[in-house]
Amino acid sequence: MTVIEQIQQAGHPLISVEFFPPKNDAAQAVFTNGAVELIGLKPDFVSVTCGAGGSAAGPTLEISKQLGTLGYKTVIPHCTCVGMSRDELARSSDALVEQGFQNIMALRGDPPRGEKVFKPAADGFRYASELIAFLRERHPQLCIGTAGYPEKHPEAPSLEADILRLKEKVDAGADFITTQLFLHNPVYFKFVEKCRDAGITVPIVPGLLPIISLEQIKRMQTFCEFHVPEVLLHNLEAAQNDPVKMERIGLYWAIEQISELVESGAPGIHLYLLNRAKTAFYPELFACLSRVRK
Ligand code: FAD
Repeated sequence: MTVIEQIQQAGHPLISVEFFPPKNDAAQAVFTNGAVELIGLKPDFVSVTCGAGGSAAGPTLEISKQLGTLGYKTVIPHCTCVGMSRDELARSSDALVEQGFQNIMALRGDPPRGEKVFKPAADGFRYASELIAFLRERHPQLCIGTAGYPEKHPEAPSLEADILRLKEKVDAGADFITTQLFLHNPVYFKFVEKCRDAGITVPIVPGLLPIISLEQIKRMQTFCEFHVPEVLLHNLEAAQNDPVKMERIGLYWAIEQISELVESGAPGIHLYLLNRAKTAFYPELFACLSRVRK
């Protein structure tokens, strides 16, 4: 089933989880164990990144197939414009459709690490909207997801300008939006309001990262734009010598975010677990996620 059909038919917000392809054998073992465990969470769909954060593109399609074999019913491979010509994108999207994938996340992609500016490949695309238009024409049946930025994309001159670009992606054929992580729900509520005012009508799924440390926040802020609420920052700083306490602070923060988002009618909760399955099984978070489906 496509994600958009699931959103329309589920009758409750969808739970989804993002994986990234492991980079070596040790990471592969962690990934496989985590993926096996996470089936217990019964996510409505999972997605697999492609070169996120400027890393080299991993075997997204292979990992997506592995997740299907493990029992995940809906797996969404990400597809980016990084280093890909139109012909290559045509071949890789054809392969994905031939393998039975019905959904795709279409992104421009981050510039490779060490490079500040995104450079399109020869005969490739400069913006995600171009990739989406290409995929929509080539595979009309595909359900296409795209990225939204509640605190604007780092390169965008303003949130308003970025939302106009987001509208172009939806007009090009995107069926749903998944947001960049945010730690302050009012940011998402305002973003959704502005998107609706701009004529964007597709579901906007909030993306959440259960924070585990101050260091993690700093790392994420090198490629994502999000602000950290004073109170969260203060509590994490006070606990910075106690990793277990920091993790619990992040966990409870995420639980409060989820509860409020679900209450407000969000179409789903997309979890950036960074392949750490353990996070989802903290009893309090697991219970909170289980309540989402009721
Ligand atoms: P775009 O929508 O093309 O936007 C990029 C910038 O260009 C924005 O500032 C936008 O305002 C501007 N822009 C767009 N169109 C125009 C135009 N016509 N003229 C002028 N300016 C324009 N990255 C990966 O590498 N791999 C992944 O798997 C991945 N998964 C992600 C999943 C989610 C849910 C999210 C939120 C992000 C993900 N990213 C991933 C990160 C993403 O690739 C980066 O944020 C990237 O820098 C922008 O991608 P985009 O698709 O949003 O680009």
